[in-house]
Amino acid sequence: ARKRGGKNGVQVFDNNMVDIARRRLEVEQFIDQGLREDWFTVHLQPIVGLADGRVSGFEALMRLSHPERGILPPAEIVGVAEENGSIGRIGERILSKALASLAAISRLEGMNETYLAVNFSPLQFEATLPARLAAQLLENGITPSRIVVEITEAVLMLDNPVVREVLDALSDLGCRIALDDFGTGYSSLSYLNRFPVDIVKVDQSFTRSLSSEQPDVRRKSRMLVEGIRTISHQMGCAVVAEGIETEEQWNILQNMHIEFGQGYLLSRPLPLDALLEKLDQFAMPDSPGRRAAAS
Ligand code: C2E
Ligand code: MG
Ligand code: MG
Ligand code: MG
Repeated sequence: ARKRGGKNGVQVFDNNMVDIARRRLEVEQFIDQGLREDWFTVHLQPIVGLADGRVSGFEALMRLSHPERGILPPAEIVGVAEENGSIGRIGERILSKALASLAAISRLEGMNETYLAVNFSPLQFEATLPARLAAQLLENGITPSRIVVEITEAVLMLDNPVVREVLDALSDLGCRIALDDFGTGYSSLSYLNRFPVDIVKVDQSFTRSLSSEQPDVRRKSRMLVEGIRTISHQMGCAVVAEGIETEEQWNILQNMHIEFGQGYLLSRPLPLDALLEKLDQFAMPDSPGRRAAAS
């Protein structure tokens, strides 16, 4: 089919639109079938202290593992799932797998105080969320203080009283709240003031520009990250830098007194088994202390 603005306002889809529609349908089918046949999994990425390389926690990242098509990333899934209303059920599935993973990690020596960071869609912010989460934590023997709820400002922008109540309840429960991808989108500094935010995650685009080839870009992004850090600390928030891929970025961020970081330099997000193996190696007494999750 070719696109043509017809005289009577009828538009024929072009090939590209057909492809998009077809792909969307396909993803919807993958989601349906994935929920039925248990294709949803989490990969876990360590979050470490930049000063000593010690693992402080793990971010749970959604994957859909299709038996023939391989692994689909959240970029393919989340938008479609939010539109067709399946994000709630997917979120439940991800959460229970992530909690089970944390319980398994906790059995390793030195890992019983690490935290789990889980991403939540705005659509998951229902009044029942805190009670459901509390019940699941109890079931898994995990204290709420080991849970970080990652949200983006899209949640806060809803300007919905339920969101406020849910955040307060999660906070009262003892969970921490992280503001993800900070510095992108419509970031408003006042969110740090108006909501119970504990952690600010500096978006990976900043980490990337810190080591840009262009001196001007480097200088400006350094000032931006320093600004975010200063304000975050003054508001009582810890800072995590996302997307650290090089030693140079690590060193710059460490020198800027950013406390925590995550990225491919330390570890890619890994399935539980691979992560446990890696952590186990580093738990051995003669292992190098720094960059605990590296290689
Ligand atoms: P995010 O929460 O900001 O997660 C960080 C993303 O950066 C992840 O992509 C991770 O794999 C990637 N990443 C980590 N280190 C590096 C690095 O050094 N370099 C680069 N280039 N990328 C790095 P991923 O797993 O594809 O997830 C993308 C986004 O999808 C997440 O961004 C989050 O917004 C969303 N997401 C992931 N899992 C879930 C989930 O369970 N529920 C919901 N609602 N959203 C999720
Ligand atoms: Mg996140
Ligand atoms: Mg992020
Ligand atoms: Mg991001």
